[in-house]
Amino acid sequence: MFWNREMETISGADLEALQLSRLKWTVHHSQNVDFYRRKFRDAGVTPDDITILADVEKLPFTYKKELRDAYPFGNIAVPMKQVVRIHTTSGTTGKPTVVSYTRQDLDNWSELIARNLTMIGLTDEDIFQNAVNYGLFTGGLGFHYGAEKIGATVIPSATGNTKRQIEMIQDFGVTAIHCTPSYGMHLAEVAEEMGATLDTLRIGIFGAEPWSENMRKELEERLGLEAFDSYGMSEMYGPGAGFECPEHDGLHIWHDCYLAEIIDPITGERLPDGEKGELVVTPLVKEAMPLIRYRTGDITRIIPEDCPCGRGKKIARITGRADDMLVIRGINVFPSQIEHTLLSIPDVGDQFMVYVDRINHLDEMTIEVEINRKSFSGELADLARLQKTVAGAIKEALNLRTTVRLVEPGSLPRFEGKARHVVDRRNEIW
Ligand code: ADP
Ligand code: ZN
Repeated sequence: MFWNREMETISGADLEALQLSRLKWTVHHSQNVDFYRRKFRDAGVTPDDITILADVEKLPFTYKKELRDAYPFGNIAVPMKQVVRIHTTSGTTGKPTVVSYTRQDLDNWSELIARNLTMIGLTDEDIFQNAVNYGLFTGGLGFHYGAEKIGATVIPSATGNTKRQIEMIQDFGVTAIHCTPSYGMHLAEVAEEMGATLDTLRIGIFGAEPWSENMRKELEERLGLEAFDSYGMSEMYGPGAGFECPEHDGLHIWHDCYLAEIIDPITGERLPDGEKGELVVTPLVKEAMPLIRYRTGDITRIIPEDCPCGRGKKIARITGRADDMLVIRGINVFPSQIEHTLLSIPDVGDQFMVYVDRINHLDEMTIEVEINRKSFSGELADLARLQKTVAGAIKEALNLRTTVRLVEPGSLPRFEGKARHVVDRRNEIW
């Protein structure tokens, strides 16, 4: 099922021509922003240097820091009176980035969400519970308007009060739910405690943070649904930019709206399809806040083959951000790898925290993980055995020795929005 078959399946010379004309427009439009005029001058390029698609490589990258330095409205390319809404990033490190939208931007954004939802089989018959933070976070209103656009019945449940969320699923006959994967796991946990069955649920959309294939299995089994991965970021409107199709093998990026490149994060050089690197995106239809070659920091690759569903090339699932990656004694570790490993051991739960310290100049990683009350016997002798099993599995998966601490079920923090699994104490001054 397609929402906009023409744009979703555009390919070959037609796609290239469309991307080139939109790239030219975007590059010219970016010159309404002071810092882009300055960047182009410094790089010795002008908008007229773009004559073919590959010319995008002549353009300078845009970094998150530059958008943040323009706080609050220094990155806007239209008169303020054309801006009809703003959102912000979560701003966990310093000031947030403000992202602005014209009316056309909001229309474009909900069109993309409408395409995604239609792609995974949602229609105006569905009852859609949007269990993410409304407000400045883009996931709430972004999905809300997209789901309304396809005519689904939208329940803006937002986050919190998990028991009530479960009652809503039951009372309203919810068929599809959107939340972070970690909140999805929490919903499953609370539903099990309540002895609630969620028969009507058939589709789960999980995004905003990295999650693993084992997590998919758990979510599908425990919530009784088919799980889809949703990727996005505030700078690209929000969620909707990348979305898994029913093939469940990578995410579609809407090629009429985003020009995607993969680069070597160190050298900045463009990598061929298939190679893993940092995703760089140039949105092609953004009015209020145009971006040129935006460094997402997210690590993925372009899958070289076209998807059988007809929507062109996909990107692989995002394993983490370049800046989420921990380097422990020289070994690169993404928290999603730890999660994947823990979920393969039934006697521990999916809840974990990672602490990194530097002790005698050596990096030491400690993983606290909750015991799974349902499958674990509770015998003291078994505890020691379980702890060994977990440490062994982590060693095997990451090639890294860690300290594993088993903790009581329910004792680690739960997150309604993006989960935070890592506390890196190596740079703390005591
Ligand atoms: P902030 O940068 O403040 O966290 P965003 O909410 O815009 O603001 O977060 C976007 C980031 O979230 C992405 O760059 C990516 O790292 C992460 N992310 C979003 N969706 C996914 C997903 N499905 N899989 C992995 N990572 C994701
Ligand atoms: Zn597909």
